[in-house]
Amino acid sequence: MSFSAETPIDEIASLDKKLLKNLTKIGYTKVNDLLSHYPKRYENREQFNEFPYEPTESPICFKGEVIDSSKKFFGRRRFFEALISDSEGAGLNQITLRWFNMVFIHKMIIVGHKIIVYGKVKKSGKRLIIDHPEFEIVDADNANSGIHLDRITPIYPLSSGISQRPLREALFDIIENLEKDGFPEILPPNDLVEMSRIKALRTIHFPASDNDLAAARQALACEEFFILQLNVAYRKAQHDALPGSANCGSGKLLSKLLSSLPFKMTSAQSRCVDEIRSDLASPKPMNRLLQGDVGSGKTLVAVCAILLAIEAGSDAALMAPTQILAEQHHAVLSQWLEPLGINVGLCTAKKKTDSDLPLFKKNSASVIIGTHALLYGSSNIQRLGLVVIDEQHKFGVNQRQKLINKGSCPDVLVMTATPIPRTLTLTVYGDLDVSVIDELPPGRGKISTYVRQSKKHLSDSVKFLKTKLGEGRQAYVVYPLIEDSEKIKVGSVEGEFQKWSESLSPFKCELLHGRIAPDEKDSIMGRFRDGAIHVLISTTVIEVGVDVPNATIMYVFDAERFGLAQLHQLRGRIGRGEHNSYCVLMTGKLTGEAKEKLGVLEQSSDGFVIAEADLKLRGPGELLGKAQSGIDRLKLGDLITETELVKQARSLSSTLIESDPNIENPENLHLRKLIMFDDDNDGVVA
Ligand code: ADP
Ligand code: MG
Repeated sequence: MSFSAETPIDEIASLDKKLLKNLTKIGYTKVNDLLSHYPKRYENREQFNEFPYEPTESPICFKGEVIDSSKKFFGRRRFFEALISDSEGAGLNQITLRWFNMVFIHKMIIVGHKIIVYGKVKKSGKRLIIDHPEFEIVDADNANSGIHLDRITPIYPLSSGISQRPLREALFDIIENLEKDGFPEILPPNDLVEMSRIKALRTIHFPASDNDLAAARQALACEEFFILQLNVAYRKAQHDALPGSANCGSGKLLSKLLSSLPFKMTSAQSRCVDEIRSDLASPKPMNRLLQGDVGSGKTLVAVCAILLAIEAGSDAALMAPTQILAEQHHAVLSQWLEPLGINVGLCTAKKKTDSDLPLFKKNSASVIIGTHALLYGSSNIQRLGLVVIDEQHKFGVNQRQKLINKGSCPDVLVMTATPIPRTLTLTVYGDLDVSVIDELPPGRGKISTYVRQSKKHLSDSVKFLKTKLGEGRQAYVVYPLIEDSEKIKVGSVEGEFQKWSESLSPFKCELLHGRIAPDEKDSIMGRFRDGAIHVLISTTVIEVGVDVPNATIMYVFDAERFGLAQLHQLRGRIGRGEHNSYCVLMTGKLTGEAKEKLGVLEQSSDGFVIAEADLKLRGPGELLGKAQSGIDRLKLGDLITETELVKQARSLSSTLIESDPNIENPENLHLRKLIMFDDDNDGVVA
């Protein structure tokens, strides 16, 4: 049979049946899935480490022979031990391998087996021990020893049921077959990468030397960047080819709104509105990203865009990721726009989509606000000329597209509070034009942030909170979980609610989390906004966009469990009014790592600084939303450190798309399947 990257793995006759079953379980279907299952590390099995006779600083890899495997305990503390000796030396050195709660291992380790062990050696009493080592039994018959031994051997990340040897053999076979059959290149010819694709794959799985390995890694990383940016360049080309028409009114309605507001737009907001205005006025559909830190006033800018479009005869839709946020936008927009004679509709899960959409069939101009529920109505929205998507990283590409498809080539404005470094923006959002609100409205109180250990400071916190509540302020108390869990030892809103209620009495506390029914949630938010509730004991459902200026205090418990960007978002719920605000990040144990991480928030309130720090700590996937940015497809490439390679890949992809915007030339057809459409990623319940 002949092989390609697209060959279904269940058609490979030589593939071990048990392996096939387990690969299918983790969603692998094609040869390509296996090829990009890269080793997590390598063992040099040409030169093993010496059999250890003392503790080691780092893990080592050595060979030995099992001489005793009888020690196993199935009592309360379940463990299994195997004794290994130095089979090639005098057999004098011995070491114990030990596993806790994994007694099934004893079935795999039998006296007389030759074994390869990888782990860190420690001393326990007189014994040398490795806890939970990685190991591989060397076959008695030494079958396929050229694959597993006497070489730099790949060690793969495994999931349950899959073991190193069959996987390694399968990959070895597959690569040999691909070499025979010929394998198409993905990267166009370029100066940086010389290695052919098949050579790079052969090398990353079965390297001949460390130098070769580095070159192969670079070739494959460049390929990943190329694919990522081919997608971006393709989307941009598709968008640029859309028919469209100008969609911008004179600005009369806009002036009316602005003169009715109690504040003036910041100059950054005005600049962004100007940029949007010229997009709307041009016949090409707008495709713009509006970036602005929490509290910078993105909503107003979006409303300006909506007014300009409405004045030109369009309707508009605004989609937000949570019910709370959609309700809030609905309240604000109704207040601002209804006096101007504009219908403001709401479409959320609890309201049936189609029953609300006839709003658009009326003659007067309309804007509809909603959650994902907007996507599920069957009908198109008539005259939908502008689509605004708030907190866009919470949506998948498909979800955005579904809403856009409800109109015919509408203008699109997506918004995010995550400031993204410029190089990343180009790579991941290169198909969008970008406007940045880089200034906060004046007259905001200061936010002071403190990192504290919860045990020591809880009672002080209660006192402080009561004083502030007494002055008329309101507060958020945030926990990671909805209810207590056996597995994860962190606080939950249900577990802690009673205590807060009692200790803050007579002030009124209320619970808020993602599992509360939407109606109830609205009513709670409403009462909080009106001041009838003083403290919300909440999960991160309040993370996005909630705007209650009188709430000036926030406690976040088990703060070390959240990402920096997320904490910054949470903190953005306070500091929205004239009063000074206080954010206290409570930790269980203040480890050095937690201190360093949370210290960033103590020192900075600049979203850019925090995003950069988060990027370094957790990589871009967390920051940008994995699926929708395509970043989860980067297995080798590092967007942050490999900027040269990223640049090279970007220029390759744009050259290709310039010459073949639809990727339809015969020599490029094999690249078409690299254009991705992600699955829906529905909102997460926090
Ligand atoms: P975000 O960018 O986080 O979405 P919002 O649009 O919710 O921010 O705005 C935060 C708050 O600031 C709202 O109460 C809004 O009315 C107010 N606001 C917006 N622009 C200005 C401005 N230019 N001056 C004063 N307040 C403003
Ligand atoms: Mg917002």
